[in-house]
Amino acid sequence: MSERLKDKIAIVTGSSTGIGKAIALAFAKEGAIVVTNSRKLERAETTAKEIRIMGRQAHTIEADLTKTSDIDYLIDTTIEKLDRIDILVNNAGIAMISPTEDLSEHDWDRAVTIDLKATFLCSQKAAKRAMIPQKRGVIINISSILGNVGLPMRAAYCAAKAGVNALTQVMGSEWAKYNIRVVAIGPGYILTEMEQQSLDKGDYTTEHILNRVPMKRYGKLEEVANTAVFLASDDASYITGEIVYVDGAMSATGGW
Ligand code: NAP
Repeated sequence: MSERLKDKIAIVTGSSTGIGKAIALAFAKEGAIVVTNSRKLERAETTAKEIRIMGRQAHTIEADLTKTSDIDYLIDTTIEKLDRIDILVNNAGIAMISPTEDLSEHDWDRAVTIDLKATFLCSQKAAKRAMIPQKRGVIINISSILGNVGLPMRAAYCAAKAGVNALTQVMGSEWAKYNIRVVAIGPGYILTEMEQQSLDKGDYTTEHILNRVPMKRYGKLEEVANTAVFLASDDASYITGEIVYVDGAMSATGGW
């Protein structure tokens, strides 16, 4: 069995479902000891159980990352239990679709807090408490193709993900001196709970999406997860401050 992440301590935020869950499982398969997380212990624990069934180690920490005290708890508890943090994946996020003129301050704050601010706070805390003293670490931010364009009705989401891209570049260049790599993955359309909810609400249709994707299909969870494994591993040792798109060429075309 390949073990590209053998014994690495990896936190994957928002790993109860979707992309976060797929990354947690892929990391465990490569030998990492994974900390799963979500707002609900039972939901994150289902991923941890699947990891233990594989014969790998997993821990679950409930934390709502819109609360700074919960972010502190996530990072502090990981260090208490496991001594260090080698990999942090900032994946937890929500979609927010609304005409900009009707987007409430409350909804703006909700999206920007989890999609951008939590990425900053988790990274800062993991770096300061673990990765800078260790002089080693990898941070992977799950951004979006929408961090690169201004799609109508996504003011908060696009602004947050553009912020994640900028933050990735800043942290990647600033923390290179500590041997910390910071990268982002920009997924295209991946059929997850988040995506299904948008389809169910009628925000857009599958046909509408796939017409815009040169590869004419949704991305698969494992295609994002395999990219995360590569970026977390030493195979990507000279890649930092970079955004890698996993999107069937959608952003390459302008996509819209
Ligand atoms: P998803 O299936 O809805 O999963 C979102 C995850 O985030 C869940 O595990 C959820 O856990 C967790 N979460 C949400 N709010 C949280 C909070 N306040 N604290 C802790 N955990 C929280 O979504 P997904 O599609 O996999 O998206 C994952 C990431 O990929 C997001 O950052 C999203 O923006 C990005 N992305 C997705 C797509 C796509 O097509 N699906 C495309 C581009 C980018 P609980 O609900 O259990 O708390």
